[in-house]
Amino acid sequence: MRIVRTLTVYCESFGCQMNAYDTDGIGALLEGCGHRIVGSPDAADCIIVNTCSVREHAEQRAIGRLLDLSRHREAVIVVCGCMAQRMGARLFDLVPAVKVVAGTDSYFLLPEAISNAVDNGERSVFIELGGSSVIETMPEKHEGPVSRYVAITRGCENYCSYCIVPYLRGKVRSRSVRSIMEEVDGLAESGAREVTLLGQNVIAFRDGSIGFGELARKVLDETPIRRLRFLTSHPRDVGADVFELMAAEKRFCSHIHLPVQAGSNRILEAMNRGYSRETYLAKVRMARSIVPDIAITTDIIVGFPSETDADFRETIDLVREAGFDAAFTFQYSPRSGTAASLLADDVPAETKKERLHALNSVVMEKRANMLGAQVGATAEILLDGAAQKGEYRFLKGRTPQFRNVLVPRENLREGDMVLVVLRRLANFTFEGEVVAER
Ligand code: SF4
Repeated sequence: MRIVRTLTVYCESFGCQMNAYDTDGIGALLEGCGHRIVGSPDAADCIIVNTCSVREHAEQRAIGRLLDLSRHREAVIVVCGCMAQRMGARLFDLVPAVKVVAGTDSYFLLPEAISNAVDNGERSVFIELGGSSVIETMPEKHEGPVSRYVAITRGCENYCSYCIVPYLRGKVRSRSVRSIMEEVDGLAESGAREVTLLGQNVIAFRDGSIGFGELARKVLDETPIRRLRFLTSHPRDVGADVFELMAAEKRFCSHIHLPVQAGSNRILEAMNRGYSRETYLAKVRMARSIVPDIAITTDIIVGFPSETDADFRETIDLVREAGFDAAFTFQYSPRSGTAASLLADDVPAETKKERLHALNSVVMEKRANMLGAQVGATAEILLDGAAQKGEYRFLKGRTPQFRNVLVPRENLREGDMVLVVLRRLANFTFEGEVVAER
């Protein structure tokens, strides 16, 4: 690897938690090569934008941002992530200032490509999928907040019909248990209190005979990390072992993000989700029977091709029955290259909008009820930063169920674990009274 001089590098991340994690890793990789990460594009020799392709709107935003960043004429602009993977060299035409395009498995090639772009104005594109180096040896960035992500799998081969991810991130690859444990240990040593194991479907994790449940147990048993979370789980794959571990181990937080996407079996089949509403609801009942205080969050799409009013009512019924703590809701829009993009996008835009509005009303009503029932309860929270309220006299934190809580700052610091009584609820955030430090 040839590094001619120290460059200042500015990184920006769009999209999911995996991108945020990768952006940190890219920063650490470049720092390891002697470059310096800066907090503003103004003084940067190199600007890196890690992009998302999950919706067309996300790509339009990223292109807009790249055009905006192009005004930094002296800087080398690098595009990474899913949009880089999807568009490849076409990005040079769309944003002429771009010098390097690096897809989702190519980050290790960045130091050399950036040097070549800075020294010789060379352009390069890397979009080959399937390499293993990116998953095993992305360098970790140790300084950072008390709550950190650790990627344990990359890629997905579920091929949900609306989703572009399997085409852009390749087949599922799991990291080795050894490298995951080393990363968690390193993060704990540098001050992290909470780790979220990350992957498109973490339940698909496998290293030899070790599956996700065994990995979670090992992290809890063999590292000093105070709290463990995971994101995301496919409802077809998650089983009782995960909930049993959650029930037995207080440090394994009582929260699962379990995307349902739709409540009608006909639509679930058209989405190729691999479960029915009945099996999904059975998983919800299983979770609640084993972990009575579990919070369940979800993702839902409205207006998938051919979705009727009756299909949509089934989604509403399912939301009422499942009792989600929160739901991320979206209007369907086709992604070219996916199976669903070949179907007629036949639900009128106005109907999608109305359905989204109706769904959000039910989600909010259920959320208010679920959270309202917690007022007066006691919860352990991990304080993870200053709250933008009352001139920063409050710190913010999360309960194990991932519910937001504010507490008066007083003598407390980020990273403290405290026991609070949840006194009030406003805008889906609790105000807590600290009753003990842990
Ligand atoms: S599980 Fe489905 S929605 Fe999730 S990343 Fe894989 S293909 Fe996309």
